[in-house]
Amino acid sequence: MDLKKLIRTIPDYPKEGIQFRDITPLLEHPEGLGRTVEAIVAPMRDAGIDCVAGIEARGFIIGAPVAQQLGVGFVAIRKKGKLPYTTHSVKYDLEYGSDEMEMHIDSVGAGDRVLLVDDLIATGGSACAAIDLIQQSGGKLMGASFVIDLPDLGGSRRLEAQGVPVHRLMDFEGG
Ligand code: AMP
Repeated sequence: MDLKKLIRTIPDYPKEGIQFRDITPLLEHPEGLGRTVEAIVAPMRDAGIDCVAGIEARGFIIGAPVAQQLGVGFVAIRKKGKLPYTTHSVKYDLEYGSDEMEMHIDSVGAGDRVLLVDDLIATGGSACAAIDLIQQSGGKLMGASFVIDLPDLGGSRRLEAQGVPVHRLMDFEGG
């Protein structure tokens, strides 16, 4: 089954020049969704993962079933102001301006072996911020898994340069 065929490209969304890689057709496809989760889980089965961390919001949809399949819990990494308890926080740069991401201080324990999951890696800004949060808690990054990599934007290389193994199910050229 070619999972790439289940990704819909929307040109110039949300603004001119962006090719938006829409994963909703893949999520709506029962076999596509199942195979996506299986393909992310397979290389991590024996990695001794303690928890899966997903980045709001599409990282939740993929990350939660991955955690369930690995038999571990799911940690939510969210935009500033959404989590109710005390949080670690990190600011990160966007194309214009900056944003902030948070994680509860007790979600990841010191020495926990964490798998990070999101739908797509572009510049790697969000993934690097999430890694920062996990490391603030003393977690150990065992890998970062994405449905889609946009390698031309350099994010996966940025993670690999930090020693984080990156797994992706497919690549798309360009930004
Ligand atoms: P970045 O922080 O630059 O790696 O961007 C990754 C985040 O932005 C992911 O959570 C994606 O959901 C979203 N994103 C960035 N570029 C795209 C794109 N071309 N199509 C769909 N989502 C994107």
